[in-house]
Amino acid sequence: MRDLSGDHRWLSLNTATVRQQGDLLAIIDACARAEVRAISPWRDQVAKVGLEPTARAVRTNGLDLSGYCRGGMFAADPERQDEVDDDNRRAIDEAAELGAPCLVLVVGGLPQFSRPGSAPSRDLDAARAMVEDGIGRMLDHAGKAGMPLAIEPLHPMYAADRACVNTLGQALDICDRLDPDRTGRLGVACDVYHVWWDPELEASIARAGTDRLLAYHVCDWLVPTTDLLNDRGMMGDGVIDLRRIRGLVEAAGFAGYCEVEIFSQSWWSRPMDEVVATCIDRHKSCV
Ligand code: ZN
Repeated sequence: MRDLSGDHRWLSLNTATVRQQGDLLAIIDACARAEVRAISPWRDQVAKVGLEPTARAVRTNGLDLSGYCRGGMFAADPERQDEVDDDNRRAIDEAAELGAPCLVLVVGGLPQFSRPGSAPSRDLDAARAMVEDGIGRMLDHAGKAGMPLAIEPLHPMYAADRACVNTLGQALDICDRLDPDRTGRLGVACDVYHVWWDPELEASIARAGTDRLLAYHVCDWLVPTTDLLNDRGMMGDGVIDLRRIRGLVEAAGFAGYCEVEIFSQSWWSRPMDEVVATCIDRHKSCV
């Protein structure tokens, strides 16, 4: 297992962590000041400042990407399938333009939440089938663009509105069905916030292996959690056994960035440089 205590070379900042303190170019500047080597930007943040200015700022500062957030939201009314596919193809192209190693997929829950305006449904199995079909339709474009797709299972509390893929095992089943030959086009993003509770976690990480483990996201689970979406904890402030899980992903061959991804009203209310400095500190002491 890597010793991360001496420096922060394997820290990546998911730019949602400081999204309310400044735009993406300001966040890139803050990363440069703090010698953070990698980021994972969100599409809306990129759209706000422009794809080309973002790509230029990434290149100028010599930044790596640890991912691009996000594609997905596949569950939708059938007549909206073209819209969903166009949207996802654009996400793949943007990720390629920015030099991301993978496009993270938040796959969507029930169609009315995944793609608002779709007919209301309570059929989670049907949503899961739409998700699998949707990912399948993207593989060709992902392969041509050289952009691996990373299915991010979300905690089951998001099954209705954000993702009906809720465990690593479920995500890996999809990978095995759609990409049985492990071509490198499909894998998973392992986010401790979503998977830390899973009794199958150890087996699923081992099953994923190095070719399916495309991204590793860290934060912490606070007790009590006061908001389903925006109360993630800073590493070390909660109950996730971060060292154990990093040990598992590294034992499976993962050797990439630990991407800090914290959606938190509390951390969004603090100065950007302070948040980045705290991420660095906790990366060394807790991740
Ligand atoms: Zn994540």
